[in-house]
Amino acid sequence: MPLVALLLVPTVHAAAQPTRAIAPDTGRVIEFRNAQWFDGTRFVAGSRFVRNGRFVAPPTSRPDSVVPMRGQFVVPPYGDAHTHSPDGAFNFASIRDLYLRSGVFYVQVLGNSRSGRRELLSQLNTPTSIDVVYANTPVTAYGGHPQLLYEALGLYRMPFPPDPAQRLTAARSRAREGDVYLTLDSLPQLPEVVRRLRRDTVPILKVMLLDTEHRRTILTDSSRAGGYGLSADVVRPLVDSAHAMGRKAWAHVETAFDAQLAMDAGIDGFAHVPGYGVADAADSTLDRYRLPEPLARRIGASGIPVVTTIGLARGAARDTASQRRVRTVFEANIRLLQRYGARLITGSDTYSDTEIIVRDATALVDVMGGDAASLIRMRAVTTPQSIFPGRRIGLLRAGYEASFLTLGCDPLVRRECLLDIRDRVKQGVQLRVPPGE
Ligand SMILES: [Zn+2]
Repeated sequence: MPLVALLLVPTVHAAAQPTRAIAPDTGRVIEFRNAQWFDGTRFVAGSRFVRNGRFVAPPTSRPDSVVPMRGQFVVPPYGDAHTHSPDGAFNFASIRDLYLRSGVFYVQVLGNSRSGRRELLSQLNTPTSIDVVYANTPVTAYGGHPQLLYEALGLYRMPFPPDPAQRLTAARSRAREGDVYLTLDSLPQLPEVVRRLRRDTVPILKVMLLDTEHRRTILTDSSRAGGYGLSADVVRPLVDSAHAMGRKAWAHVETAFDAQLAMDAGIDGFAHVPGYGVADAADSTLDRYRLPEPLARRIGASGIPVVTTIGLARGAARDTASQRRVRTVFEANIRLLQRYGARLITGSDTYSDTEIIVRDATALVDVMGGDAASLIRMRAVTTPQSIFPGRRIGLLRAGYEASFLTLGCDPLVRRECLLDIRDRVKQGVQLRVPPGE
């Protein structure tokens, strides 16, 4: 049964800082009575009180209104720390609703167009929408990833055209440079790249590392156009520049060498774990995806968040022997990182695919051997807190934002209950989301 309408939805203007998008001070205290609240490990029966969009301590006088919760199970809303949507006004409402319907309130877009973000500014980070942080233009090499992908989308409406001539044309086109990616091929170009990055006030910079160790060989092979990224010598100065402009640097990595380079450069987040999306690899080259133990230990000790994008790997259509071996290495990397206490978080790397969003967290917990409570913690606590480190989200207690999902059954008994979302409350206000098809 849906909750009653709690408060009129307040008018909120586009806020640069999502933390400001809290309901205005009405002073009214609402009691959400008799629910089962997730405390990080289990569900505890009781009530929560909400005032001005936040949980507060039980008041000494009677609350202004009571919402009966009928013993429903309540968890914090979910996060997705690696997406590429929403990006632009096209289809925005359905993408927003898709996230909200799946219980995802917090989204980290690791690569998008500047124009797309601008179009959406007034529609995001409000009490009735999703909260999104953007990276804007990733920095890569000329002809690398994601230049080819975005240029091919513009030219041919497909990300990886099968025709080699079309791929080369896309890799050489610079039509969308400056909007959806920037290129950096040598250190003398850095000041100009930094000047262009400084036009934006986004909190993240995405740096592209793709088999950096073999970059020179890849560059001479036209069939590998679009499959490379930055050269090793520009990474550290670029990351330093990101930090100087107050941005955190998130690295796209493909191999253990890339991960090592990213750590040496001082990056703040991993957008992938080595081995995540390798379609085919000869056994002789498998070792390059394997994280060495000292590196895994270092990543674990650093506390740097690592998005594994395992849902993407699981979704691969092909199931060849070599791909299964790559997957074995990939999953061994995840377990190694887990053993060294790495901060593993969930991200779908999708443009808007609910199935991957859901599959990612579940697959990750399966690989790590976790229970249902650890699945909830990853989706509802660790990932949202990594996306918005300055915000009090992810916990259902006094002082935190009063945002939560009610579930139709006990997710500690049946994991599928995490998807059986009945109501979505954001900062004390119930969201109205149209049902999906
Ligand atoms: Zn991505």
